[in-house]
Amino acid sequence: MKPIKHVVIAGGGTAGWITAALLNKVLGKVIKITLIESSTIGTIGVGEATIPPIIQLNNALAINEQEFINATNASIKLGIEFENWKTTSHSYMHAFGSFGKDFPFCDFYNFWVKGKITGCEDSLWDFSLNYQAAKRHKFAPLNTIPNTQLPGLSYAYHFDATRYAEYLKKLATSRGVLHIDAKIEQVNQCPHSGNITSLTLDDTQINGDLFIDCTGQRALLIEQTLNTGFVDWSHYLPCDSAVAVQSQGTDSLKPYTRSIAHSAGWQWQIPLQSRIGNGLVYCSRYLSDDAATQLLLKNLPAEPITAPRVIKFKTGRRLKQWHKNVVSVGLASGFLEPLESTSIHLIQSAVTRLIKLFPHHGISETLVTEFNKQSVIEIEHIRDFIILHYKLTAREDSAFWRQCKQMDIPHSLAHKLKLFKETGKVVRENDELFAEVAWQQVFIGQGLIPDDYNSIVDSLSSEQLNDLFSTLKTLITSTVDQLPTHKDFLAKIKKA
Ligand code: FAD
Repeated sequence: MKPIKHVVIAGGGTAGWITAALLNKVLGKVIKITLIESSTIGTIGVGEATIPPIIQLNNALAINEQEFINATNASIKLGIEFENWKTTSHSYMHAFGSFGKDFPFCDFYNFWVKGKITGCEDSLWDFSLNYQAAKRHKFAPLNTIPNTQLPGLSYAYHFDATRYAEYLKKLATSRGVLHIDAKIEQVNQCPHSGNITSLTLDDTQINGDLFIDCTGQRALLIEQTLNTGFVDWSHYLPCDSAVAVQSQGTDSLKPYTRSIAHSAGWQWQIPLQSRIGNGLVYCSRYLSDDAATQLLLKNLPAEPITAPRVIKFKTGRRLKQWHKNVVSVGLASGFLEPLESTSIHLIQSAVTRLIKLFPHHGISETLVTEFNKQSVIEIEHIRDFIILHYKLTAREDSAFWRQCKQMDIPHSLAHKLKLFKETGKVVRENDELFAEVAWQQVFIGQGLIPDDYNSIVDSLSSEQLNDLFSTLKTLITSTVDQLPTHKDFLAKIKKA
């Protein structure tokens, strides 16, 4: 058991720099951290939409929000709008935050289900502050709805991926992380244990005790060197390609991501302060790279400002995220397609897990097993949530959607679907990332209305139920009326 005194991070994309910054912030006084990246190889250059836990990451790194927003060209994200997923010309939003007013032991959406069954016309999203603000392009930080105890807005960011890595690089190096810009030419192993001992660069060798593989899809240490293995999920998540392009911005600065389904995949639009990030995720079995590029260019919100770039990927996870003395983080550890913007979050949670289980006195197999067990549980829950969007489609208009509708799904998801349909219940397991309210929105948004609801709802008369609905709608509308526009909010930050 060799004490861990020097951590070497291979790779300086979003994964490398989040890892460096967070490890340094928490453990910087007891470990030395070196990050090696090759500016010649560069980074993947996508990954611009996030989810609300990023606020906790920024807080942990003691990041000033205004400075962060200005440095990364960021905008606010209140949710993701899914267009054409259930059927063409239908849309719904996975809005962050809560809905209506939860009662003890009974989520608000049960009240809505009863209303729906008894003929109420209100949409579930009439009761979402996030949705209503998003559609009116409004935003200001709001912890609670004024004069109530009801939660306010929950938000995340869209940002420029390159600027984000640059921002974290400055932060981490100013706090003591050693940065080397060089290509890793060779990975050296101990002939007995197989552990990695050092990395050979052009003219030098870097020794380390623990290595973090953040080399992206190359997975230079965890796969190319240790041959750890990969669990392929492409039978559940058939998209394997993306084409990305940046376009000019538009007048309306939407505080949400758009996910627009097409015949063999879906298109993202991520509005930043000065431009829009666009891409088409698709299944190469049904759409060629050229056809995908043409489809994307035809559907851009404004003129392109970069050349389209095709990116190939495989969905799945590394068999062991931690193997020997290598922990893989980011794309090196696997990839779930970007539909729910979960990859950056998985980086954050992997580093958080590593810090909690950090092997200061040496790496033990028990610790590694625990780390890997937690990682698998986490990513499988997220995988199921993403599959749900495809599986629950009602589309039959292309071979791609017919395949999605008919495909086998993991038992864990089949159980969740059945439980929801029969009882209206969603159970959040093992502290999984997506809360009940996220699952409820995708179930209902994609057209699955449960047969039953929580009986606590019946303690309200239909008159009381109507009163509750109309009070909540009035409160939400008047709160959104008072908010500044998203554009004005960002302009004020820029000025400050
Ligand atoms: P990379 O950015 O590829 O970085 C790899 C690093 O390793 C680079 O610095 C490179 O120079 C270095 N390197 C490699 N080999 C060597 C070598 N031999 N020597 C030295 N250095 C080396 N995530 C989200 O959360 N939200 C999104 O909206 C989102 N959208 C995405 C869209 C697409 C199409 C794809 C493919 C991914 C998306 N992701 C998204 C995922 C996100 O892009 C990644 O999780 C994130 O960018 C982290 O990438 P990385 O740092 O692991 O890899």
